[in-house]
Amino acid sequence: MLEIKGLSYSYRRNIPVLHNINLVIKNGFNLLIGENGSGKTTLIKNLTSILPLQQGEILLDNLSVTCPEYKKKISYLPQSFDVYPTLPVKEILRFVASAKSGLNKSEQEEHISKIMDLTNITEYAQKKLKDCSEGMRRRVGIASALIGNPDFVVLDEPTAGIDPKERIQFYKTLRTCFNGKTVLISTHILDDIDFLATNVIMLSQGCIKYTGDYAAFRSTLKGKLFEATCDLQKLSSIIQKYHVLSTSITGELVTCKIVSEEAPQHDSQIISVVASEASVEDIWLYFQGGDTRNG
Ligand code: ADP
Repeated sequence: MLEIKGLSYSYRRNIPVLHNINLVIKNGFNLLIGENGSGKTTLIKNLTSILPLQQGEILLDNLSVTCPEYKKKISYLPQSFDVYPTLPVKEILRFVASAKSGLNKSEQEEHISKIMDLTNITEYAQKKLKDCSEGMRRRVGIASALIGNPDFVVLDEPTAGIDPKERIQFYKTLRTCFNGKTVLISTHILDDIDFLATNVIMLSQGCIKYTGDYAAFRSTLKGKLFEATCDLQKLSSIIQKYHVLSTSITGELVTCKIVSEEAPQHDSQIISVVASEASVEDIWLYFQGGDTRNG
């Protein structure tokens, strides 16, 4: 378990980009989401001690981020794994292991072999990284993150740039390889939440906007989301009256996704109303956006 207490961070004096973050990151897949510039990378860099701790505490199983031992328990996989492109895959893993694991040579070889099997890259051991396909490179990155058997793994946008079909396979690989660990994954691909999340953490403007388990996150709008259709001309009055999450326009009609404790009534403005199942995107918009109503 990783605990963050009162964490703030400023790149420039007195302009904090993280504001008093208090968070517990539990076992399983923790999906870190937030708009661009919300502070995800800064948070990750604090957790991985790439940036020095300025204010607050970060504890991994009660071990402070400032202890040398902390680094041995965590692993960080940056978005693009293109280090040592001319080295063969196995050499890269040996290099990472020698810097990280503290195992003797034969233990290290055994450790690397197991990880190569798990990540399905054994047959590419002698292939140079630059000659590997993108998918293979990602698996080598995962293998490198597993070296040293870390307790806490941070993956920065691991699914970025993978097409949706391949992503399903990649989710399986992630689940298999990091099963049982505490994993923090930053992402802007909302599908990742449905396929991976045990817990969801949402940042906005350097503050925690939401934290909770997947089921709680998914039921945020349960029974409270409706799709109302109205004339395009009536849209502005609907927006003033209701909490409108999003709109889609078809000709002269507009369908509004409305958050409301009770179903909006048919009236002179609304032609039809149906209850709607919230998507992850709806929930994201709900937490990100303000209420559209005046007052
Ligand atoms: P995200 O990863 O969610 O896009 P970042 O952590 O990269 O967010 O950025 C958070 C804020 O910190 C942004 O306003 C960004 O401009 C600022 N920032 C990021 N890196 C630096 C830096 N090296 N120097 C100054 N400001 C930075």
